[in-house]
Amino acid sequence: MRSDVLVTCPLVVMKFGGTSVGDVDRINRVADIIVEHRVRNPNEGIVVVVSAMAGETNRLTSLAKHCANSPAPREMDVLLASGEQVSVALLAMALQDRGLKARSYLAPQARISTNDRHTNAQIEGIESQALKSLLADNGIPVVAGFQGICVDSGDITTLGRGGSDITAVALAAVLHARVCFIYTDVAGVFSTDPRLCKDARLLPQVSHEEMLEMASLGAKVLHTRSVYFAMRYKVPLVVLSTFLGALQPGRNGTFVVSEEELMEKALVTGVTHRLDEAQIAVSGMKADIKSLAHLFEVLAEEDIYIDMISQEFIGDDEVNVSLTVPDEQSERALEIIRNSVETLRANAVTIQRDIAKVSVVGIGMRYHTGVASRVFKVLARAGIDIKMVNTSEIKISIMVARKYCKMAVSVLHEEFFTVEVAKQVG
Ligand code: ASP
Ligand code: MG
Repeated sequence: MRSDVLVTCPLVVMKFGGTSVGDVDRINRVADIIVEHRVRNPNEGIVVVVSAMAGETNRLTSLAKHCANSPAPREMDVLLASGEQVSVALLAMALQDRGLKARSYLAPQARISTNDRHTNAQIEGIESQALKSLLADNGIPVVAGFQGICVDSGDITTLGRGGSDITAVALAAVLHARVCFIYTDVAGVFSTDPRLCKDARLLPQVSHEEMLEMASLGAKVLHTRSVYFAMRYKVPLVVLSTFLGALQPGRNGTFVVSEEELMEKALVTGVTHRLDEAQIAVSGMKADIKSLAHLFEVLAEEDIYIDMISQEFIGDDEVNVSLTVPDEQSERALEIIRNSVETLRANAVTIQRDIAKVSVVGIGMRYHTGVASRVFKVLARAGIDIKMVNTSEIKISIMVARKYCKMAVSVLHEEFFTVEVAKQVG
């Protein structure tokens, strides 16, 4: 990402998600929050980023589906970008009504340029001069999240669902904001999904790296790519609820910071889950490296994303290989593998969709041993079979039958949270 001139005054980015601007009363409430921030920090610049009003992007998507079987991505972007156009205009009006010098900006005006991948574009640069001029005049830019403009064609693009987070963090990075506040409808980042486990607790702090893993492993509070930007450009993030009053550690707000700033490196920070993968099993395949290479080559040629892999030898010359792919690519992956059955000399190819990936994430795993053993022990005690395992330096992911998802999350959370606290107290 390029930025032209550095802004030297302190500055914050305040991003408000769809539910925060879900109706006109809420938009007025958001305007009050911004006024309050300005009154408390009169010398600090404010850049606001907003999502479309709650439900609007879904509504627009379903309109498109009524008009075309497979709507052209370029036209989808023109359509979807309209959601954010409404909310920036309304919020700018509400702020002006409160005496602030606010101005709405769509992506071409804020010069947020992207590549040409319609509906899933990536930001390539922001020329922030227009925003800086308004900031220098004590004004408040209200920028449409989620949208961009393609550098080559000049067409409107969008950044993928949940992409307003990316706009906010990218702006915070190029403007060197001291912090990027992500206002949402939950109090912050939780140790696990509160809907699955009543003991989930609000985390006061997590590192960028942990957040990146948690976001990609199922914690939906932040867009994965926004966390990647935050980590890469060292932007501190604060996730907090618009509806729970001010930032108050322990009650409202999670700080997402660099590892050096963590007060405590927890062994396990979070237990997450995902239900959007399918498992494909290729059984009785010829056990030679050429067949294995061929299997992954045909999938790679079609851009199939592979997450977990396991293999099990049956005798000396046969092997069963299992792999997981995103749900939306699973039909295609199955077809590709079925077409290669002869070359692979496999007996059968089957697919299973009722699976769940449950992960434990924590930076402390880098420094301590024994986490895997505790994971396997509690799952065994609960009678939960593990289908596959995948690890990195700071996470352990296991694939289980979907019916065990909730139980796996609960027992793992209990093991690493309740037990950890009991140990500290005892
Ligand atoms: N409005 C877009 C969506 O619903 C972007 C966002 O809210 O972040 O996905
Ligand atoms: Mg969101």
